[in-house]
Amino acid sequence: MSDQSKIDPGRCLAPEEMKPYLAGVEPDVREVAPGRLGKVETPETLAAREGIPSDEHGIPADLAIRSRVLLRHQRENWPMLGKGFESLETVQVRTFDFDGFGMKVQFNPGRIVSSLAKVDKKSIRERKCFLCRTNLPPEQKVLLYGDYMVLGNPFPIFREHFTIPHLDHIPQRIRNAFEPMLDLSAAMGRYYTLFYNGPRCGASAPDHLHFQGGERGFMPIDIHWEDMAGRHGTWIADDDKIRMARVDDGLRRYVIMESDNKPKLLQNFEQIYTAFAEASRQAGSEAGEDEEPMLNILTTQENGRWRVICFLRRKHRPARFFAEGDDKMVFSPASTDFGGVCITPVERDFRRITADDLRAMFNELSVSPDVLDAVVKSL
Ligand SMILES: [Zn+2]
Repeated sequence: MSDQSKIDPGRCLAPEEMKPYLAGVEPDVREVAPGRLGKVETPETLAAREGIPSDEHGIPADLAIRSRVLLRHQRENWPMLGKGFESLETVQVRTFDFDGFGMKVQFNPGRIVSSLAKVDKKSIRERKCFLCRTNLPPEQKVLLYGDYMVLGNPFPIFREHFTIPHLDHIPQRIRNAFEPMLDLSAAMGRYYTLFYNGPRCGASAPDHLHFQGGERGFMPIDIHWEDMAGRHGTWIADDDKIRMARVDDGLRRYVIMESDNKPKLLQNFEQIYTAFAEASRQAGSEAGEDEEPMLNILTTQENGRWRVICFLRRKHRPARFFAEGDDKMVFSPASTDFGGVCITPVERDFRRITADDLRAMFNELSVSPDVLDAVVKSL
C-alpha cells in the first residue's frame, strides 16, 4: 500500500480534479464532424466494455487511465508542462532503414538539458534532486501507486510521457526494483511501456530510483520485437512458462523475455543480472566493481503477458559526444534510443547523422556478442 502520509494531500490529484478530464480518455474517440464526437467514452461505457471497476468517486480503478487523466490535467494547469508537450507537435523526424527494421531520429531541442546532464558524483551531490517530492514544482500533481508516484514529464519525448520515482531518495538500482517495475507495467499496460535507465546508462537522476513510461507503439521495438527475435535472434526458450530470445541486430545486443509468470521472470532476470555483472567485469565496462552492470530495460504488459527487453551496454556516451569540431555529436542514448527513437537535441546533428553513424555509435555502446553469449549461457 502507498504510504500516503509521506505526501502532502494537496499534491495528489484529487477525484474532483480528475473528473473533468475523464470523458473521451480512451484513444478510439474520433471527431466525426466539427464538434461531434463519434464515440464518447465515459467511465461508465468503459467499465461496461472492459469490466474495469470504479472507485467510490466513479473513477476507473486503472492506473493507465488515471495516468492519462493526470497528463490531461497537467497540460491545462501547469504551463511549463503544457509548453513541453506543445513543442512536440513541431519536432522533426527522420527514419533510417537497417536490415529489416527502422530507427527514427527525432530533433528535440527540449531534451538538451537531459542529453548534456552532468551525472558525475560531485555534480549530483551539489544539485537539488528534482525527483524528491519536497522539490517538485508547485503545479506538479502526483498519482500514488505502492511506493511510487506517477508524474507528468515536462520534457517529453513521447506524446504521453511519465516519470515514476520512488517516494524516497534512494539510489537508481534495478536489482530490488525489478518486481515493482513489473507490477507498475501491469498496472499501466493498457496504454504504456515502462523503461529503466541504469545509473550509468542515461538516468539523469542516478541518485533517485525512478522509471519512465510512454505510449506503447511509439518505439519501433514495441511493434517489431517478435520479428526482430526471428530475423536477428534465436529463441533460447519457448515453453509454457516463458519465451526468451537472444538478439544481435547488427547495432544492439539484447535479451527479450515474454511470459505471464512473474516468479519465472524474476528468477530469469536475476540470472541475467548476475551473469552480466560477471561478464562485464571480465570484458571491461565503464561500470565499476561496486556498480550495477550497464542496462536499459523496457517492460510492458499486453493481454496479461509481460514483455521485458534488456539492452546490454558497455558505455554511456560515444567518443563523438566528447569530440571537438565536426566530429562532435550530441548523442547520449538511453532506453528510448535503444528502443528505436534516437534523440538529437542539436539541429546540425539531426541533419547530418547517417545510418552508418548510428550503426557505429550503437555498436560502440553495446556489449560484444561474446558478452551476450555469456549472459545467455547462464539461462
Ligand atoms: Zn531525490
